[in-house]
Amino acid sequence: HADMAMYLAKRQGRNTFHWYSHDMTAAMNERVTLRRGLHDAIAASQFELHYQPLLDADDDSVRGFEALIRWQHPTEGLVSPATFIPLAEQTGQIVAIGEWVLARACSDLVALNRKMGTHYWMSVNVSPLQFHGRDFVDSLVRILRDTGLPARQLCVELTEGVLMENANATIDILQTLRGMGIEVFIDDFGTGFSSLSYLKYLPIDKIKIDRTFTRDITTNFHDSAIAQGIISMAHHLGLNVVAEGIETEEQRIFLAARGCDLFQGYLFARPMPLPDLSRYLGDRDNLAETNA
Ligand code: C2E
Ligand code: MG
Ligand code: MG
Ligand code: MG
Repeated sequence: HADMAMYLAKRQGRNTFHWYSHDMTAAMNERVTLRRGLHDAIAASQFELHYQPLLDADDDSVRGFEALIRWQHPTEGLVSPATFIPLAEQTGQIVAIGEWVLARACSDLVALNRKMGTHYWMSVNVSPLQFHGRDFVDSLVRILRDTGLPARQLCVELTEGVLMENANATIDILQTLRGMGIEVFIDDFGTGFSSLSYLKYLPIDKIKIDRTFTRDITTNFHDSAIAQGIISMAHHLGLNVVAEGIETEEQRIFLAARGCDLFQGYLFARPMPLPDLSRYLGDRDNLAETNA
């Protein structure tokens, strides 16, 4: 990456070179700061989970949530998971962070379902190192037991990359999870350059169409073709399809017409902390009663 940036900068002349070089140094310093900070972040309670609703495409009812981690860094401010999760993967911190996420997401869901008298599910992103770690299944079992969450209310989201590595070990773990009643989603589907034939062997439940396809679905012929292909293929394989990143009514209509099963995106709700989520669900209930 650095070579590429340098190459581009040089092609554009000396002045821009200093810009790139300065940005690159800043970015490297930031990564060093963040990597160091990750170590204490759990103990210092700097992580928080936000929850984004997933809605049934048929009737717009909320079915579950995706847990999305947030890091409030003492000096850097709010850091995106897209920045720090890859760093945590590199340092191995992701294993502890991932366990914290699972435990918190499960206990928050239990509290929410108890309070509202509902059976929503929770979907949690699991990174490759965490998934292939020695204690992954054990920690899941322990967390479900400690929180009292029924396994069928938990889903794990894995990316294509995780599923391609170590195919046999992966299938064993997936079978164990599904044996317990946990659902498995493939996240960011279509971005991983992987062979489709693996879908035939993998015990999974749902596919999430990546946000980059949803984004241009109504304007870009290729993206709409790919999205329709994914939906149709998934349905033929007996899998459900979630579209993530829905921001417009046009996108929703397009995806609904093609049979997409679940919706997720800013059009419906942004990821939010638990108290806001609770209020959001309460408001929806009240609205439904008023309309009834
Ligand atoms: P992801 O799992 O694909 O999560 C969906 C991302 O899309 C989230 O970004 C969410 O906030 C965003 N999103 C949802 N709807 C919309 C929309 O309508 N428009 C736009 N522009 N964005 C939307 P976020 O929260 O920044 O997370 C980024 C990625 O970081 C996640 O992508 C996931 O790969 C990773 N991540 C987040 N939390 C965790 C975690 O607890 N563990 C692990 N291992 N990875 C996580
Ligand atoms: Mg996800
Ligand atoms: Mg995704
Ligand atoms: Mg994505």
